[in-house]
Amino acid sequence: MRSRRRILTGDRTTGKLHLGHYVGSLKSRVELQDEYETFILLADVQALTTHFEEPELINSSILDVTMDNLSVGLDPEKVTFVQQSQITSIAELTVFYSMIVSVNQLRHNPTIKTEAANYGYEDLSYGFLGYPVSQTADISFINADLVPVGEDQVPHIELSRKIIRKFNKLYGTNITVPRAKLSEVGRLAGLDGNAKMGKSMGNAIYLSDSPEVVWQHVRKAVTDTSRVHAHMEGHPEVCNVYKYHQVFNPGETDEIHKECTSAALSCFACKQRLNEVLNNLLEPMRERRAYYENNIDIVKDLIHEGSKKANAIGNENLERIKEKMHILI
Ligand code: SF4
Repeated sequence: MRSRRRILTGDRTTGKLHLGHYVGSLKSRVELQDEYETFILLADVQALTTHFEEPELINSSILDVTMDNLSVGLDPEKVTFVQQSQITSIAELTVFYSMIVSVNQLRHNPTIKTEAANYGYEDLSYGFLGYPVSQTADISFINADLVPVGEDQVPHIELSRKIIRKFNKLYGTNITVPRAKLSEVGRLAGLDGNAKMGKSMGNAIYLSDSPEVVWQHVRKAVTDTSRVHAHMEGHPEVCNVYKYHQVFNPGETDEIHKECTSAALSCFACKQRLNEVLNNLLEPMRERRAYYENNIDIVKDLIHEGSKKANAIGNENLERIKEKMHILI
């Protein structure tokens, strides 16, 4: 009998993590690590669905993503890091689940739909089409109860729940049907005005960025474009810098709103305030990260040991599943 409920969360290993990842997921991981037994999946197989031509990037990102998670304050004594490709039960469960999911169910998944609308089905790989299935295996190999997700991921979890319910009904298994936990802050927009922060957009502020790089992004941020002189009144509701104050500096937003709309605060000063807030947040992360960068063997051990532990749990669960499926002789 488990003493605590389990969370499965994680990141694709396609590069370092940025502020969007922090507000969307990492922050809540830190808050939940005492309450839940937390497994952080380093999703290197899932990374292959889009980055199969960049194995070196995926490899180096396994360490980067682990260090990013540690840098935000996840305690290696409390959480388990799991390298997805090392977990054989995930691969096997993916095959089993793929038998009971229709191609149509996958085609209706919003992520697949968008991809197909943009590029057509012609170049869509079998792996990409089936990634909600492998995600179901990621969640269920350790019988996770809770999966923290952004809004765009909710349909994936819905499909996972359907797959697991159907599987349990078919074979009499007792695989946990997971619940989605929506992140409080939705998608973080870019300071440049782009709806999303991301590496491909060139607007990402990485958790490991230096103060100089952070300032470069903040300095260039798009504000209220109608406010062409500092003596003009501003409109915070259309300003990207203000949106960031709301997320990262909620205690000062009323004051900033007042000073902006009365032209008492210049955009430059407002950006300086945001820059200070962001660097105050990031500085302890940089320090923790520097420790792990200087002790990279500790990071590798955490990944090896965590994967070993998770593999043992997954194999035990899979054994029970196979028994129920009558495929053990
Ligand atoms: S003062 Fe701040 S909130 Fe107002 S428009 Fe300038 S940057 Fe935006």
